Amino acid sequence: MKKVLIATEKPFSKQASDGIKALLQEKGHKVRTLEKYTDVNQLYEAVADVNALIVRSDLITKEVMAHAPNLEIVVRAGAGYDNIDLDAATQKGIVVENTPGQNSNAVAELVFGMTVMYIRKFFDGSTGTELLGKKIGIQGFGAVGRCVARIAKGFGMEVYALDTFAPEEVFEKAGVHHVKDINELYKTCQFISLHIPANSETVKSINYELLSKMPKNAVLINTARAEVIDEEGLIEMFQNREDFGYIADVAPKNKDLIAERFPKRFFFTPKKCGAQTSEANNNAGLAAAVQVNNFFESGDKKYQVNL
Ligand code: NAD
Repeated sequence: MKKVLIATEKPFSKQASDGIKALLQEKGHKVRTLEKYTDVNQLYEAVADVNALIVRSDLITKEVMAHAPNLEIVVRAGAGYDNIDLDAATQKGIVVENTPGQNSNAVAELVFGMTVMYIRKFFDGSTGTELLGKKIGIQGFGAVGRCVARIAKGFGMEVYALDTFAPEEVFEKAGVHHVKDINELYKTCQFISLHIPANSETVKSINYELLSKMPKNAVLINTARAEVIDEEGLIEMFQNREDFGYIADVAPKNKDLIAERFPKRFFFTPKKCGAQTSEANNNAGLAAAVQVNNFFESGDKKYQVNL
């Protein structure tokens, strides 16, 4: 019997939470939840005796790990894991996993929900434009990027995709144009949708030089991470290109400045909500529980991210 803590500042839905508990308890594990905590000391106290931790966007720092001497595995129910200090985990021999692909359809649907709203001028009664026949560039062709391609094709868009690591078959299978040069992607596509992780290579990599290559009526859509944008370059693009629009589920630090100076050319969700559907909630939470079970049953670390 292992002790598992579900620590969520922003809780899972009741259905997901019940499902997660049931899956873990079926395997004999003891499950506790810490929801809507407001003070990190509550988390420090709750992790004191746990072997496994299931979290969402909760910050799992070196300090949290220092309070959890028995911790063996942390599973981030979701795709991005930049909320977890991987180096600290590795040093302590703690396995960190994510649950890739479980919320990707939710994020991809949001891309198009926001895009249609933007090109229809926020439904203000003026004349908008359509997606049919337009070119979309997908940067990062992983789980979300591939869902975006599927939906884009449904809209009748021409789909271009770039991914530094994905093998050729992935592009062939999805029936999209494989672009290898990032400048080419930005030059070709009126719409660019970002689906890359935030890491030392990608942080601030979307800069003015790249954005300024985009064709007329360029729209940048970011449901990935705010950090991948060079905000100075973004503002320069807004200044120099009146036709440019920016839509994000991960609002920039300078969102107030952008709102004041460039009205009607942006949309930011009030809070990150790409994965916020009951389906995604369920999928990611249940996958996390199964991964914890598999880890304790057979040592399975298929989704380990701190290799
Ligand atoms: P994923 O790991 O399945 O896909 C990411 C892809 O990016 C991989 O195929 C990888 O090869 C590729 N990649 C990595 N570095 C690259 C680079 N420098 N250039 C081009 N491609 C590169 O992840 P995913 O589930 O598709 O998620 C993508 C992004 O979306 C992540 O940043 C994740 O944090 C974010 N996300 C946001 C939400 C939200 O709520 N808005 C939800 C899920 C995921």
